[in-house]
Amino acid sequence: MIEWIRSAFDGESTPVKNIALREANDEIERLREDVQQLAAALSRHDPELAEKILCETSPNRPPGAGELREHVNAVVQEAHRASTSAGWWDNTDIHGDRHVVPAKLCLIHSEISEAMEGDRKGLMDDHLPMRQMIEVELADAIIRIADLAGALGLDLGGAVDEKMAFNARRVDHKVENRARRGGKSY
Ligand SMILES: [Mg+2]
Repeated sequence: MIEWIRSAFDGESTPVKNIALREANDEIERLREDVQQLAAALSRHDPELAEKILCETSPNRPPGAGELREHVNAVVQEAHRASTSAGWWDNTDIHGDRHVVPAKLCLIHSEISEAMEGDRKGLMDDHLPMRQMIEVELADAIIRIADLAGALGLDLGGAVDEKMAFNARRVDHKVENRARRGGKSY
């Protein structure tokens, strides 16, 4: 909407354009508050949907946050495509063999452990020597996570997007509550 107003008022002077943008922002804020009130009223009947709406319309939600879903799911798709075409999923029945998921989760752990060793010793990566080992091993962990999510058909992007929106409004993550006795110190 803001982009539409910017282009609609393209030929106008900056003060006129700024007034239109301010009014549009005020209107969006009023709509957001209305939707939040409706979601709060809905929570008795459908708490799951209400929580989703509250997250989506939270004032802490950064603009464009919804694009995260698309970007993360693009990583999932590409990581799983590359891994499948390299044969890493040949003769593997992820739904029939209950040991496949635990094995893949252990491989994710192993990348995190390698990242820790790299950080502990201040090493550069041996395959990409221009990069820090911690950087490359964290990338390996992301690739493995995305591959597993692809194999399981998970909407990892949607979960990342919704969890970040949820975290942005959770009370126990607010700075003042973290500073209180019993609050999360890290
Ligand atoms: Mg590695």
